[in-house]
Amino acid sequence: MIETGLDIQEGLLFDSSHDVSGASVPRAFTGEVPNLRETKLGFPQLSELEVVRHFTRLSRKNFNIDLGMYPLGSCTMKYNPRVNETISGLGGFSMLHPYQPESMTQGALSILYDLEQALAELTGLAAVTLSPAAGAHGEFVGLKLIKAYLEHHNLSHKNIILIPDTAHGTNPASCIAAGFQVKSLPEGANGVMTPESVKTAMSEDVAGLMMTNPNTLGVFEHHAKEIADVLHDQGAFLYGDGANMNAFVGSVKPADYGFDVMHLNLHKTFSTPHGGGGPGAGPVAVCERLKPYLPTPRIQREEDGTYRVLHKMPHSIGLVKPYFGQFLILLRAWAYITLLGRDGLRETSEQAVLSARYIQSQLQDVFQNEDAAPCMHEAVFSDEVLKGTGVKTLDIAKALMDFGFHPPTMYFPLVVSGALLIEPTECEPKAELDRFIDVLKSLIGKAKENAEWFTDRPTQTPCSRINEALAARNLDVAKPI
Ligand SMILES: *Cc1c(COP(=O)(O)O)cnc(C)c1O
Repeated sequence: MIETGLDIQEGLLFDSSHDVSGASVPRAFTGEVPNLRETKLGFPQLSELEVVRHFTRLSRKNFNIDLGMYPLGSCTMKYNPRVNETISGLGGFSMLHPYQPESMTQGALSILYDLEQALAELTGLAAVTLSPAAGAHGEFVGLKLIKAYLEHHNLSHKNIILIPDTAHGTNPASCIAAGFQVKSLPEGANGVMTPESVKTAMSEDVAGLMMTNPNTLGVFEHHAKEIADVLHDQGAFLYGDGANMNAFVGSVKPADYGFDVMHLNLHKTFSTPHGGGGPGAGPVAVCERLKPYLPTPRIQREEDGTYRVLHKMPHSIGLVKPYFGQFLILLRAWAYITLLGRDGLRETSEQAVLSARYIQSQLQDVFQNEDAAPCMHEAVFSDEVLKGTGVKTLDIAKALMDFGFHPPTMYFPLVVSGALLIEPTECEPKAELDRFIDVLKSLIGKAKENAEWFTDRPTQTPCSRINEALAARNLDVAKPI
């Protein structure tokens, strides 16, 4: 049988290794390079073309934002502008070594310093660390800063963090990892937290509250300031989960409504690449009170305009990531912020909210969701409309793939039955939003007529339904499922 393109079962490069080399090692000027290794390195041996084809074929089996809409709620899967790649690929940046002397890295240090300043400005907070390697890592670092402050002020009895029901799972996990206990808060009417419920939960032992704003239901926490006052009156901190910052960059400063510490996910809000096992960045912005505890190294701007690296600070929680974090990722975020400027950033956020509200308004009657508060940058729908059809949220998500859409986030937030959390971001053209709306409408219609149709979806992708429980247990990426 002749296989074509996507049908080829892609093994690992190790399996097709056959003793050729895609790279020629330059000879030293003096002649032969002595080979001091006694054992083989064990890397696969293939020609460059074979390697390129392998990865190109894999990329065609994968969904990505360059291929189609990726409305994964809470994840802000926005397009990564190519100019970011061009800038981060410049040799002056990509060939830098973190051990180069400060005199040779002034340009890079100035970019890191400027990025810290820009994020401090956008959050309204006093200082920023760029070290953490992800949003979750940022949460951990932010909570460690609170812990360090409390210990330094003999307030160690404050060991409880309040977290609303709608929070992302990383919030409670980070609390536990940072040595706190978690107390959960029910959300109020329309998914908004109320000062009353926070007052009821308050005690001497509460160290802080983690708030996501807009929250994971896509709704703005408009009592944030009053809630911050309740916390501050009792010496507790308001931690901001900044994963949803794409909803308000440049128009609201979270410090103005009481956030004391906040992480930002550069891969969500500031257009750096997401995951794929690659490096992330979750900078943390803090208020004046927490500044002395920030991780090292810190970059200091001297009066003569040069930059100096401080490796030791008296109260710092120390190193949380080697060197300065993920430099080339931070550089991409700096490029994005610098190229858009304050007005561009604000317009971007406004467009992200407009796109989500458009989806919400166009699908409100189909999902019988007319009472929902106007959403910010993401719209959530429940599976109420599917009740009695035999079709589940999962089936709708799988069927969407056959129309070239990545499924939205499903079954999160947990407080919404069979949730579909849709975040289009600012990047999608209106025609694509309309196509998405039409397809989703027709799928809901189909669910009411013919549940059977959904069983085998998707049919147009390299893999159809897989046994997800088995795939998680027998993780063998080389074998087709
Ligand atoms: C994505 C997300 C996180 C975690 O961030 P990572 O960068 O994936 O570690 C935390 N909270 C919310 C609300 C999120 O959406």
